[in-house]
Amino acid sequence: MYRLAMENGLRGWVRNTNEGLTIFLEGAPGSLKNFRSDLNHRSPEASSITGIIIEDVKPEGFSGFEIRSSLNLSDEITEISPDIAVCAACLNDMKTQQHRIDYPLINCTHCGPRFTIIKDLPYDRPNTTMDNFPMCATCTSEYEHILDRRFHAQPVACNRCGPAYELWKKGRAVPGSLSEIVREAAEEIRRGGIVALKGVGGFHLVCDAGNQDAVLSLRKRKGRESKPLAVMFRDVEQAGQVVRISPVEERALISWRRPIVLLQQSDGFSSHLAPALNEGLATLGVLLPYMPFHYLLMEHLEIPAVVLTSGNFSEQPILIENNQAINQFGRVADLVITHQREIYNRVDDSVVRQMGDQERLFRRARGFCPDPLPVTLPVNGILAMGAELVNSFCIGKGNRAYLSQYIGDLKNPPTQEFYRDTIDRFRKLFRIEPTVIVTDLHPEYYSTKSGRELKLILEHTGKQITMEEVQHHHAHIAACMAEHHLDEQVIGVAFDGTGLGSDGHSWGSEIMLADLERFQRISHFEYLLMPGGDKVVEQPWRMALSALYHTYGEKVRKLNLPFMLRIPEEEREWILQMLCKRVNTPLTCGAGRYFDAVAAMLNLCLRSGYEGEGPMKLEALTTEGITGCYPVEHQEAISFVPVFRMIAQEISLGVQPEQIATKFHNTVITAIIQTVLVIRKEHGLERVVLSGGVFQNRYLVEHLVMQLEKEKFNVYLHAVVPPNDGGVSLGQLVIAAKRRAI
Ligand code: ZN
Ligand code: ZN
Ligand code: FE
Repeated sequence: MYRLAMENGLRGWVRNTNEGLTIFLEGAPGSLKNFRSDLNHRSPEASSITGIIIEDVKPEGFSGFEIRSSLNLSDEITEISPDIAVCAACLNDMKTQQHRIDYPLINCTHCGPRFTIIKDLPYDRPNTTMDNFPMCATCTSEYEHILDRRFHAQPVACNRCGPAYELWKKGRAVPGSLSEIVREAAEEIRRGGIVALKGVGGFHLVCDAGNQDAVLSLRKRKGRESKPLAVMFRDVEQAGQVVRISPVEERALISWRRPIVLLQQSDGFSSHLAPALNEGLATLGVLLPYMPFHYLLMEHLEIPAVVLTSGNFSEQPILIENNQAINQFGRVADLVITHQREIYNRVDDSVVRQMGDQERLFRRARGFCPDPLPVTLPVNGILAMGAELVNSFCIGKGNRAYLSQYIGDLKNPPTQEFYRDTIDRFRKLFRIEPTVIVTDLHPEYYSTKSGRELKLILEHTGKQITMEEVQHHHAHIAACMAEHHLDEQVIGVAFDGTGLGSDGHSWGSEIMLADLERFQRISHFEYLLMPGGDKVVEQPWRMALSALYHTYGEKVRKLNLPFMLRIPEEEREWILQMLCKRVNTPLTCGAGRYFDAVAAMLNLCLRSGYEGEGPMKLEALTTEGITGCYPVEHQEAISFVPVFRMIAQEISLGVQPEQIATKFHNTVITAIIQTVLVIRKEHGLERVVLSGGVFQNRYLVEHLVMQLEKEKFNVYLHAVVPPNDGGVSLGQLVIAAKRRAI
């Protein structure tokens, strides 16, 4: 503001308050107009102006322009910025500024770490992890000079005063300059080795993305057998050799948030990259450099791309601590590269995918967190614990929902600890004392248990806590409604793998009437047996057998489909016995389980190496232009018996799997359309809200939305909140807020 005021020859003052910025300006009308237009056109890339209120005032005759000290007007807190990718000006400074030549922790007001280094508010250097690096005289003068790009940039540092990079080999420090470290890393990658590299929000493991052996060895050492790996390219042009990039996707790739973007691979993939990156899939997670070190590394490499995958073990949180990384990556990586800037708040890379004409978030973390989401209801003091897998929690302040970063699957103690710690930190950072705690219906979720435990702890200190329970799929729909500021009755379509239903069974193909207070289940897919309970998630072939048993009864033995022959007879027979006798066979109607079943029938995925492998491989086979579908039966629930029968027949006849996969997708779409048309007739609702992990499937979403719009429905999809369980906590939050308000 100061700079713009000076340039336009305006007088007056500017003041930061926790409710926004106030500017008092005096000057010629033309200059005021220019200033106003500069606000729109010259604001920093990472800034966003949510609203401007202009009032006429009496001139007071100022002689200059000044910055007045901040005012605290209320309990509202100043926003914390997400971490910002390094800017072009800083990259240039790194080549030209004497004290920052090759200094890779360079940053300015427009870029650099934020959320990851903040320990407390206000956002001042002593409250960040840069507190133990006093600025040198040069940095101080830049920091204090109002016309400098580093004016009040808290993490400002240089070669002389800032944290440095360090190289470790077999647990020992290897002394060397930064350029030596970069060269060593490049050399190791070129040789097919693996490098552990500290980033903004945690460590990554890096190797040559074109070297099949390196990728396989990374998988083996990390214990990540088949889950797809993200790849970092030097620039958009290089990425364009192996994936297709639309204008929307390009904007996402180069945005200051710098997420991983899921892109459709093109023919060039096989000649440039290792097939082991994403076996059986047609998409690749792509990102561009966002730290100066990434750029330096890319400069030293001739290869087009490196794998850049989270530095963690078997579903645990990414490592952030230097000593831990040096010890634990000793077995995994040939080199470990650390830096001395401590990571306080851990964040993974975010993941987005274009569906329709918009970019949509699948994993909300670096670059997005902790941006609050504005909500219409007051959510103050509500803490929503989230679900179990790909967990996030959400905490309310005023009319803002603070959705935590992606926490992960609450299945191992380190992730559970990360979860508890982050809740504590959010409470402290945003100064929120919970008075309402919301959990899922599922009593065994770690999030549910933690919520109940926290209630006891808080009550022990004399506080009054209200507990609220929200059904999983209702929460999904409410999350999407909150994103679009809907507070009315809608048709909700919540499709995912699992979630405890009000009848005690596992749900996940819910078509409901819903508002923010409650829901009424209208239809769903028919229940199928889950032989061995949760085991079916790892072994989708069991769901295939269950679906076929549901269709053929004991005659299923005569089918002899190729996938059945790949299962040892003894194992197959054992599962069939379970199904016949109904021993250990809980019920599910999860659409994800239906996708699993068909993926296994098609022999795509009998045993699943990661969440959603079967459905993702099924989606990979979908082909535009195949329009047929199978008939479902709308009874009390939607029956897929005729669908499974026809699929089994077509497999026996040798019909192309692309045909079957696409027709199955079309079938699910048709079943939804038929159901919502009936609901509209009866209830007169026009708004259809889609949520749940199944709606990460691009083919499904785009075709479903197209057909719904053809029927003149208003369709609501997630954009800035993940459709998967990473968004559930926001839904829990607004439902609790609504119930409280009534
Ligand atoms: Zn910068
Ligand atoms: Zn310095
Ligand atoms: Fe879910």
